[in-house]
Amino acid sequence: MRLTTLGVSSHYPVPGAPCTGMLLEHGDVSVWVDAGPGTLAELQRHVALADLSAVWISHGHADHAADLLPAFYGYRYGDIPAPAAVPLLAPEDVRGRLIGFLGPASGSELDRVFAFDPLTDSAGRELGGMNLRWVAVQHDVPAFALRAEAGGASLVYTGDSGPCSALDELARGCDLLVSEAGTDRREPGEASVHLTPEEAGELAQRAGARRLLLTHLALGIDPAEAVRRASERFDGTVEAAVVSGSPMSVVLPTVDT
Ligand SMILES: [Zn+2]
Ligand SMILES: [Zn+2]
Repeated sequence: MRLTTLGVSSHYPVPGAPCTGMLLEHGDVSVWVDAGPGTLAELQRHVALADLSAVWISHGHADHAADLLPAFYGYRYGDIPAPAAVPLLAPEDVRGRLIGFLGPASGSELDRVFAFDPLTDSAGRELGGMNLRWVAVQHDVPAFALRAEAGGASLVYTGDSGPCSALDELARGCDLLVSEAGTDRREPGEASVHLTPEEAGELAQRAGARRLLLTHLALGIDPAEAVRRASERFDGTVEAAVVSGSPMSVVLPTVDT
């Protein structure tokens, strides 16, 4: 199974670094996981949109889902040959958000492009040898975390979530934990819809993950500092999906799992 990071930025894309998104591949199966602004363009470096097997969206916030809109235009009115609707695995509210933007009469057009398959808690799908499972997590809109297993490897992606037992359970024993670190600091007892770098490390440690890849870092956190903070709480390897330095020099790593 191959993970290609398509974007890492929180809030808004910058040159060379779209918002959150990644591509999971195994054999002929390719799944676009989260469609943050800018990820559609980056995705096309790696897979032809006509060959995309499915799209999986963690939640409806624009920094994870907005590029579904240009994808719709590309498939419906552009030159992307799509013999059948692309499965769109996403929380229930995402379809309504898209229709809200595209217009009230757009539902049937949308359904010609995307075969909407609403996510429910503790469910999953098998896609050509890639097993996907997801659980509801702690965020301020309906949100899910994903576990993908293929070829003996396992990857867990937190989406956006505060610490919660569902994440611990989903991540148990995974080879690679791709975790957001969208909060810098939190006062004791303060509820959260994101993780701090320390909490990402603690999650990896509790779950017994082998490696931790940090993404979706809170604004102002230097990636090297995020890695250092997470490493204090996790015995395994920690990396950041961005390179320290100016936004113009961000690299988008490819990780084999
Ligand atoms: Zn969010
Ligand atoms: Zn987010």
